[in-house]
Amino acid sequence: MTQDVVNFSAGPAGLPRPALERARDELLDFEGTGISIMEHSHRGKAYSGVHQEAIDLTKELFSVPDTHQVLFLQGGASGMFATIPLNFLGAGQSADYVVTGTWSKKALAEAKLLGATNLAGTGEVDGKFTRVPNASELSLDDNAAYVHLTSNNTIAGTQFHDFPETKAPLIVDMSSDIMSKPLDISKFGMIYAGAQKNLGPSGVVMAIASKELLASGSDAIPNIFRYKTHADKDSLYHTPPTFAIYLVRNVLAWLKEQGGLSGMADYNQKKAGMIYQTIAESDGYYSSPVEEDSRSLMNVVFRLGSEELEAKFVAEATKKGLSGLKGHRSVGGVRASIYNAVRLEGVERLVEFMGQFKANN
Ligand SMILES: *Cc1c(COP(=O)(O)O)cnc(C)c1O
Repeated sequence: MTQDVVNFSAGPAGLPRPALERARDELLDFEGTGISIMEHSHRGKAYSGVHQEAIDLTKELFSVPDTHQVLFLQGGASGMFATIPLNFLGAGQSADYVVTGTWSKKALAEAKLLGATNLAGTGEVDGKFTRVPNASELSLDDNAAYVHLTSNNTIAGTQFHDFPETKAPLIVDMSSDIMSKPLDISKFGMIYAGAQKNLGPSGVVMAIASKELLASGSDAIPNIFRYKTHADKDSLYHTPPTFAIYLVRNVLAWLKEQGGLSGMADYNQKKAGMIYQTIAESDGYYSSPVEEDSRSLMNVVFRLGSEELEAKFVAEATKKGLSGLKGHRSVGGVRASIYNAVRLEGVERLVEFMGQFKANN
């Protein structure tokens, strides 16, 4: 078995090994039932236990207040780009969008199909998303239906390290940094994330929303697209992606064992710090295109002297078991995605390789 591959992929991304081992051990016979969890009814006792545990662990890890509800939804984060305005952007209203990269652009484009929007801020500098705006740069509309922003820009390698105070409900796409650190959930109207970066496999979205916001959603849209429908039935309105939620449960249980989200936050700081330090001490051999205050702790993007050198870097790293380092095709360069599941030892191998590559090239 090639156990020494470190997966730096941006998504679907690496999963914590213990979560996969648990799935392997339980695959053919879930808790003595003689069948796999995938084969159980979503209304039966075996799956209900897993479903409730996934919700309970989410509440516990994030200290979710009673004002908010945890949902498991389908359609990916991209589905949310459409269902958020469908539910919450009423006739005669406008929604604020902060655009800091590819994903927030897509979110805005979907909202524009359904109603009025206001570009409340951008991270664009000379056509590139190399920073996120700070709160004072935003032009927020106090009467907006909601404010939408992307907390971590997976492709550009930028991240909001704190959030603006908003009058309107703040809705945040946290697909690539959810559960990487503790948050005060009470400040958000809704946070959501496709699971495939930091929570589990693809196929399920975790959303945590204020009950007040959920109740305010439109009734003039089909049931399946109403958040209310899913909230009323505890995400069991119809067949949920049971195996994906089961794996999310395994990842959440692992997170708890790691000391929860504050333990994870320290660990993630340390990992990202090692790579940024290596870049800073490379005398310009490696460079970060991102402004210092906006640098992501999840997706570390960096450049070398030429595209040829970058291609060579990625190819040689892959041979050494450091996989998934190629930057997104829209921005180029190198990207090390270091989500919760990437171990410190993996990052140590990367920075060691960066040193060797610099010495040899
Ligand atoms: C990957 C990603 C998405 C898209 O997720 P899907 O589940 O594939 O729709 C959206 N937003 C962010 C920030 C992402 O990283």
